Amino acid sequence: MITRSYPQVQAIASDISTTAPRDWKVQLAGAIRDPRELCQQLGLDDAWLEGAEAGHALFKVRVPHAYLSRIERGNPADPLLRQVLPISSETDSVAGFVSDPLEEAEHQPLPGLIHKYANRVLLITSGACAINCRYCFRRHYPYADNTPSRQALDNILHYLRERPHINEVILSGGDPLASSDKRLGQMAEQLSALESIKRLRIHTRLPVVIPDRIDSQLLGWLAPLPIHKVVVLHINHAQEIDDNVVAACQRLREAGVILLNQSVLLRGVNDSVAALAQLSERLMDAQVLPYYLHVLDPVAGAAHFDISDREAIKLVEELRQHLAGFLMPRLVREIPGEVSKTPLY
Ligand code: SF4
Repeated sequence: MITRSYPQVQAIASDISTTAPRDWKVQLAGAIRDPRELCQQLGLDDAWLEGAEAGHALFKVRVPHAYLSRIERGNPADPLLRQVLPISSETDSVAGFVSDPLEEAEHQPLPGLIHKYANRVLLITSGACAINCRYCFRRHYPYADNTPSRQALDNILHYLRERPHINEVILSGGDPLASSDKRLGQMAEQLSALESIKRLRIHTRLPVVIPDRIDSQLLGWLAPLPIHKVVVLHINHAQEIDDNVVAACQRLREAGVILLNQSVLLRGVNDSVAALAQLSERLMDAQVLPYYLHVLDPVAGAAHFDISDREAIKLVEELRQHLAGFLMPRLVREIPGEVSKTPLY
């Protein structure tokens, strides 16, 4: 594992640093979607291209320039690159690694609604992401059938009204913040108008990969919501948290948002005590509390990222010696059918 401080990475990456406009939609549209371009922009030799194209055929490449600029040029072991560069192992069929590892299809009472846990539901708000993470457990998810239309949203609101014990709605995806602010604002207003809903939670990677997503339009609907607002970011490595991410987090906090982070433990990305300790410290710089450290969900195409539970527990045991308790993420596995996530340590 290669670890570097953020200023070093900035210096390394400055020659490919983006000149992209600050409008997040323009940045999203301009994301790299071609494995050849990704390899070329990062100075990777052609040996990587064949695997990249094979993986791309299964799950498309998508990397915004704001994220690309944090990747060390010419380094195939860069921990950010490994999250976004397809490799030939993705085509391997590995026993136990399946298309729907969390069996979410079993818990969908309505299109776009996942109801696994008693008091909270998850709303698939958007099928789009700003970045395609190679280990994503929803890399095979049928978004086209499950992104709620206006009518479907009405049905979901009806479902919630009939179940007042549900007090929290989680906007998920894809990335919910890939939706327009108009749509998100209307949705959030309708949800927060339900008397039973106490919290709106947003699971998103967009403030990390395109920090300019946290703009005045977004804050315009988010800040005035009369219920608790929680944003759970998804950051796996300290190198992902540049100064623009820190500033985006600050804008969210100023809008009254509680910020948490969840990570996935990934071989070759953050599977060392040093990397995990640096991540927690850097999260603290951004005033984001570590929440979960997930072991990998066994999704087809991602087996090369897997770390055994035993190895994961050993890492976390050692990590405790380096961090204050409040900077320790909870090591968990999501087991289909369980009433909550299962702590491993
Ligand atoms: S849903 Fe999250 S983890 Fe999956 S590809 Fe999108 S941003 Fe990455």
